[in-house]
Amino acid sequence: MSYCVNCGVELDASAGSCPLCNTPVINPAELEKMMKANSPFPGRKGEVERVKRKDLGVLFSVVMLSIALTCGILNLLVFNGAPWSLAVIGVCAVLWVLMIPAVIFTRQSVYLYTFLDGTVIAAYLYLLTFLTSGDAWFLGLGLPIMVLLVVVLELFILCVRRLPRSFLTVSLYLCTAAGLLCMGLEILIDRYCGGHIALSWSAVVLTVCAVFNVSIITLLSKRRLRNAVRRRLHF
Ligand SMILES: [Zn+2]
Repeated sequence: MSYCVNCGVELDASAGSCPLCNTPVINPAELEKMMKANSPFPGRKGEVERVKRKDLGVLFSVVMLSIALTCGILNLLVFNGAPWSLAVIGVCAVLWVLMIPAVIFTRQSVYLYTFLDGTVIAAYLYLLTFLTSGDAWFLGLGLPIMVLLVVVLELFILCVRRLPRSFLTVSLYLCTAAGLLCMGLEILIDRYCGGHIALSWSAVVLTVCAVFNVSIITLLSKRRLRNAVRRRLHF
């Protein structure tokens, strides 16, 4: 049953307008549909197709390759005072290798990638020796630091993947890795600088890490304490 919105007379279901005052009969639901049909904006959100990882990889490779090539050519033909393009080409190569696991070979071993990343960064440092006066800094400091970094990182990944993994245990591994890294760094720097090896700043870091680790181990061994802390800190 419908009524005229103007004069209130009862209308026939098929009436297009009021027989008394001639006001057109419009169904509000229909009106909404009509408005939508005439709307200047599209009713559905447009969606762009997702970019495939492989295409992204190709694009990234092309960009890196063209940057390296352009710099190489510029270095050879125009600004040929020093082999500066080696630095740029090296950065491109490093970025390319770092990007591989994210874009191209996503299913390979994480250990292999960590090793490859370390190797390529070490290779880049070696490349820089051609731009600096000698390679003593590379052999004495650069290479050992990279080896240390890769070893600590691999050990950390091994712990996270093979040992029990929770917020507390991962904090424990991370803290241990950070302590080892700082200690190794100080030893390497001391050795390179020719002085005798004595821990100073890394001893502070190691102490902090040790206190932190003892707390975590206590928490891990006492279930009731762990649950109490967990409820308060929300992890
Ligand atoms: Zn009417």
